[in-house]
Amino acid sequence: MQIRLLPQTIINRIAAGEVLERPASAVKELVENSLDAGAKNIEIKIEAGGKNLISIQDDGIGMSDDELKLAVQRHATSKLQDEDLLDIRFFGFRGEALPAIGSVAKLKITSRRAGAEPCKIEVIGGETSEIQPAVMNARGTKIEVKDLFFATPARLKFLKTEDSEKNQCLDVIKKIAMANPQVAFRVEVDGKAKLNYTATDAINRITDIVNDDFAENSVPVNAEKEGIKVAGFAGIPTYNRRTTEDQFVFVNNRPVKDKLLQGAIRAAYADFLGGGRHPVLALFIEVPYLEVDVNVHPAKSEVRFRDSRLVSGLIISALRFAIESAGHKASTTIADFAMHAIGKNQRQEVTRPNPGSAYQAAYYGSYSPAPKTDFLPLKQEATAFSPQAYDERPQITETIDYPLGHAKAQLHGTYIIAETADSVVIVDQHAAHERLVYENYKQQIEQNRLQKQPLLVPEIITIDEKRQNIILNLKERLAQFGFEVERFGAKQLAVSQIPALLAKHSASDLLRDIADDVIEYGADLSLLEAFEHVLETAACHNSIRAGRRLSIEEMNQMLRQMEATPHSGQCNHGRPTYVELKLTDIEKLFGRK
Ligand code: ADP
Ligand code: MG
Repeated sequence: MQIRLLPQTIINRIAAGEVLERPASAVKELVENSLDAGAKNIEIKIEAGGKNLISIQDDGIGMSDDELKLAVQRHATSKLQDEDLLDIRFFGFRGEALPAIGSVAKLKITSRRAGAEPCKIEVIGGETSEIQPAVMNARGTKIEVKDLFFATPARLKFLKTEDSEKNQCLDVIKKIAMANPQVAFRVEVDGKAKLNYTATDAINRITDIVNDDFAENSVPVNAEKEGIKVAGFAGIPTYNRRTTEDQFVFVNNRPVKDKLLQGAIRAAYADFLGGGRHPVLALFIEVPYLEVDVNVHPAKSEVRFRDSRLVSGLIISALRFAIESAGHKASTTIADFAMHAIGKNQRQEVTRPNPGSAYQAAYYGSYSPAPKTDFLPLKQEATAFSPQAYDERPQITETIDYPLGHAKAQLHGTYIIAETADSVVIVDQHAAHERLVYENYKQQIEQNRLQKQPLLVPEIITIDEKRQNIILNLKERLAQFGFEVERFGAKQLAVSQIPALLAKHSASDLLRDIADDVIEYGADLSLLEAFEHVLETAACHNSIRAGRRLSIEEMNQMLRQMEATPHSGQCNHGRPTYVELKLTDIEKLFGRK
């Protein structure tokens, strides 16, 4: 057998296999190149999911003919100055993308540097053409990629449907656009305008991308520790989604998908969102370049931190702090939805909430207008009114202006109706009380008052050494929850006390889950989650049921407790516990404004 060097085309195709998984990866590489070139306007065209055409035109610095020749050669890059792989400020640096694309597709690059003549070059399945003069009116670069993967039919076969490839391309563009609000992006799909983001600031760009109502339903996030910064916007818990699709995380402005970061987000919201609901957020993490290795993954969607605990800890505390600051704010989408539904019902149309919206049908969805015959004849009521009194604005006799107002009535044994100076508040009594009980349990944990249950015979758990050590390292934290755990021989743990609330649960399953999560996420997530679940169930059993009659005093007591309790604006499942309808909105319904 003879050893020989691989031909350049094969080397490029192997690289293409790593860097170019699908059309979306080509879009990502090309758009990042435009950004690296200082572009302020980027126009993208995609046809047939990117299989037929990907075209990117920018107004960046452009390339001269010599530069163009180099650009399509492997390991040619203008972006690595001092040979320090860890100190990377540009998106690209491997000098791989253009030759890789050229080796598996029909690539044409037209470019113009300021003050130079425009020129073009083509690479078709790895065959590079001569540099040729071209026509281009302004500074910038246009890159056209046709018939991607035509030279590697096997890869072509593995692509998904055009629709799915198209969506992945759009996803990539949205992420990049999110991190670069100062750059304008125009996207055309199969000849039709699809996205149009004008240059703006961070929150407006996020709102453009996520949804118009994100700005009102989010709080700013800002934290810094030991040179690491976390900034961005976090959706309040009631504004949630079924998937993590609307979570955008960036490290030094690169979009990343990273287990550690996802785990931190999960942990931060663990208290407020259960049942497979996910928050919407955009987080920009800035780490000194030498603290992070972005070179781990060829497509650079994974990162490695030097001190990952510091980063995840900072994210968790930054998010929690931001959520706390949201206080009692229940999602405005819910109030909007309610107003909308009431308005429609007036016109005798029953609306159902949009299943994709943040709001989950709780009660408005099943509301239907009462049949006409149910109304009392007006005559009977008339005696109760005196025309003058009716003319006067409603007076609030109570002197203190509480945020959740004064209880006025209980409807259907389920809803508390309260009045504030400028609004009507509707509280779901069961959901609200459940949250109050749950928060109370949490306080007990914090203050070490949670009931514990010693075991007469300690439970012995057989566990591998790695997990044994993880659990023993968490001993103190576990003790706070009521667990007493000791080393018991080489691969065993002895549990001598458990929290009373957990009496019906298997301590060994729980401890194993906790160890697994520490391995996967680097945080004691499942401890929180297991507890959340148990506390939730307990809270549900111990809270006021829907259907129970409450006196005005009891209702007011509950409102005051809600005001004093953090996070009482949403129940344990991320649904709102109350809705506030502003008088100005109600007036609109009656055409008073
Ligand atoms: P990398 O981005 O890792 O340097 P690429 O293969 O993506 O490698 O690009 C090679 C080089 O081509 C870049 O370093 C840059 O000098 C040049 N280049 C690529 N795209 C553009 C563009 N849109 N505008 C200006 N120069 C570009
Ligand atoms: Mg590049």
